[in-house]
Amino acid sequence: MSIAYKRVALIGLGLIASSIAHALRRVGFEGEVVGTARTAATRETARDLGYCDRIVETEQDAVQDADLVVLCVPVGAMAQVAANISPYLKAGATVTDVGSVKEGVIQEVAPRLPETVHFIPGHPLAGTEQSGPASGFASLFDNRWCLLTPLPGTDPKAVADLTGFWEALGAKVDQMEPAHHDLVLAVTSHAPHLIAYTMVGVADDLRRVTASEVVNYSAAGFRDFTRIAASDPTMWRDVFLNNKQATLEILGRFTEELFALQRAIRRGDGDHLHDYFTRTRAIRRGIIEAGQDTDAPDFGRGPKETS
Ligand code: NAP
Repeated sequence: MSIAYKRVALIGLGLIASSIAHALRRVGFEGEVVGTARTAATRETARDLGYCDRIVETEQDAVQDADLVVLCVPVGAMAQVAANISPYLKAGATVTDVGSVKEGVIQEVAPRLPETVHFIPGHPLAGTEQSGPASGFASLFDNRWCLLTPLPGTDPKAVADLTGFWEALGAKVDQMEPAHHDLVLAVTSHAPHLIAYTMVGVADDLRRVTASEVVNYSAAGFRDFTRIAASDPTMWRDVFLNNKQATLEILGRFTEELFALQRAIRRGDGDHLHDYFTRTRAIRRGIIEAGQDTDAPDFGRGPKETS
């Protein structure tokens, strides 16, 4: 698969950016990958790990002559980064981002970029609870979706080139309206994260169950919540601040369903519970059939990790 860009600039060098760089290495990208990050420590780590061809000190230097600029910073930092790089972008370059929220990013970034560049918002639906410059790996995007939310009137060739880029990294690409993206992600990612944060917080607050009991006897359900709740606090703060409406709508529905299940438990309505759990089990099967997760018991962790 060929990549249409000669120079790719990565702004921010965390999980997503470092995974992009690793994946570019894996496919033998012949162009140049230039990276930068806010702190000297992150730049130093990235330099040591060597997944970029060049690490530079400033965002302005990174975007010089870049054909593709990928904004890989938390959603709340996108506006400032866009303003910083704007005067230095090459005419005809494509600027994209990987932010987990799309409407908010578009509102903040689009007005700050010059009309001479193609701005194509994007979101790879791939991640882990790890963050930072040493957390990336080449296969992160394999068989995962990357959603592009191009604005009306965007040059189709620029969209096709960005699509080809993500496909070369191993992803499948689809397009979506930004508002719809934010609603879908509120259901599939944002609300579940908030629920995981809450459940881990509840366990932490429950004084009748000691902290060591929570840790030592953590069963699969709670352990999976703790993995999600270990995600980067800055990233997730920004997600909720920027996807307010959709997240609140989904949490409203969640609360209603929770009340219905609470009532079924109180009334001893086993049929309701059984029907509900049968329906939800089918969704898990659908995810496995779509190749989006493993069907191995306990996510294939094996007996050692589960004991
Ligand atoms: P990460 O590992 O925490 O890395 C974030 C990077 O952004 C770091 O290089 C950091 O620089 C830089 N940064 C932080 N605050 C900044 C600021 N105010 N100004 C400029 N740079 C700043 O994050 P990530 O997981 O790669 O996430 C990056 C983006 O991808 C986010 O928008 C997130 O919503 C999105 N995303 C994440 C996932 C996921 O699961 N993690 C999945 C899909 C999309 P320093 O290290 O120098 O501080």
